[in-house]
Amino acid sequence: MSDEADTLEMTDARYLMHPFTDARANLQGGGMVIDRGEGVFVYDKAGKKYLEAVAGLWSVGLGFSERRLIDAAVRQMEKLPYYHTFTGKSHAPQIELAARLVEMAPVPMSKAFFTNSGSEANDTAIKMIWYRSNALGETRRKKIISRKRGYHGITIASASLTGIPVDHQSFDLPLPGFLHVTAPHYYREGIEGESEDAFSTRLVNEIEALILAEGPETIAAFFAEPVMGAGGVIVPPQGYWEKLQPVLKKYGIILVADEVICGFGRTGRMFGSQTFDIRPDMMILSKQLSSSYLPISAILMNDMVFEPIADESHAIGAFAHGFTNGGNPTAAAVAIEVLNIMEERDLMTHVSDVSVHFQARLRALGASALVGEARGVGLIGALELVTDKATRASSLEAGKLAKYAFALLQNKGVIARAMGDTLAFSPPLIITHEQVDMIFDGVAEVLAQMEHEIG
Ligand code: PLP
Repeated sequence: MSDEADTLEMTDARYLMHPFTDARANLQGGGMVIDRGEGVFVYDKAGKKYLEAVAGLWSVGLGFSERRLIDAAVRQMEKLPYYHTFTGKSHAPQIELAARLVEMAPVPMSKAFFTNSGSEANDTAIKMIWYRSNALGETRRKKIISRKRGYHGITIASASLTGIPVDHQSFDLPLPGFLHVTAPHYYREGIEGESEDAFSTRLVNEIEALILAEGPETIAAFFAEPVMGAGGVIVPPQGYWEKLQPVLKKYGIILVADEVICGFGRTGRMFGSQTFDIRPDMMILSKQLSSSYLPISAILMNDMVFEPIADESHAIGAFAHGFTNGGNPTAAAVAIEVLNIMEERDLMTHVSDVSVHFQARLRALGASALVGEARGVGLIGALELVTDKATRASSLEAGKLAKYAFALLQNKGVIARAMGDTLAFSPPLIITHEQVDMIFDGVAEVLAQMEHEIG
């Protein structure tokens, strides 16, 4: 390791507090310093090359060296690096991006509102939903349903939506009024002898029972990721969305599709809502929207959501909500260029093609004695590791299997993501067949080594 890397790591340990990291442990060595990126690869300070098989945080769809995004940012910065859209001001990049997103939405949408992160967008959506209920005089309609293992961010309200215990622990969350229902994970939550379709029926019945117990007039919205990402890459079971949506409609509950991971091609279609035939009233977009080169997120809403909000803001005098950098012109210009590139290069055709190979290689690993379930769709997938396939259990401490697999794989130059005992993959959309092989050849070697060691 070079002196420079040593110095950076020591400075990291001394001065930097990291997100989602053991802050005490980081004092010992600091973070792993990534220095540069090229295509689907990143390099550490020592020059070691890694295939980034999670695209950073499921987000760098176009890879780590897309010149056109850099040029788009520079062009916009030279012309107008910053302006806002508060109090009636506007600027071309945000206007153009709003039009593009509303027009490309898979269901009729009316307006786009811009924020900086997935968490901010979900928080904003919650505020919009509460504001709308008040506008309609439905002042009790404020509760929100989301799912256990769902991930929607970490601000106070979006972390309340999130259904992962560690994101609540010691933060005094969730807030009251946030209700969590069973995760749609057939492998873990299905009952012996229950078909996948019967499992979906049971889960939807549970949701309807909750709505009735709470009082339908108190339930404002249901938030869900089309495919759960950070909760372990949970692909919805057969019939789930088909059965769930009429129930939400029956009780006038707004459906919010959190497309922060699924949006812009991840599941094989432009939006996860298309892959699973979801007809949301609101969509939350971020991550691949700018390939994460700059922070930007968006809320899309239909007229059923927008119209009462417009009335209320007119009565009050303003919709008093917004962020200094929401829809920043440079970030918006980069997002527009992402959409241009996806269209011009017909990236969705590439994703459809390469994802067949990705899923085939992923699922073939299901034969390993250590893989309980291989699951995924499009260019997102996961292996749930167990030591006993029959009981679906691990004889090791929870999380240890995936952590070990992750570390071995990283040594081989492939960065995956360990979540509990699940190892997840979500590579840049530009990945080639050969690069998919690099990921799964590496995983196969790691699993073989672990099978040998664990016996
Ligand atoms: N929603 C989903 C589905 C996510 O995966 C994430 C982040 O991983 C978020 C929201 C929060 O986004 P951010 O980290 O930009 O606040």
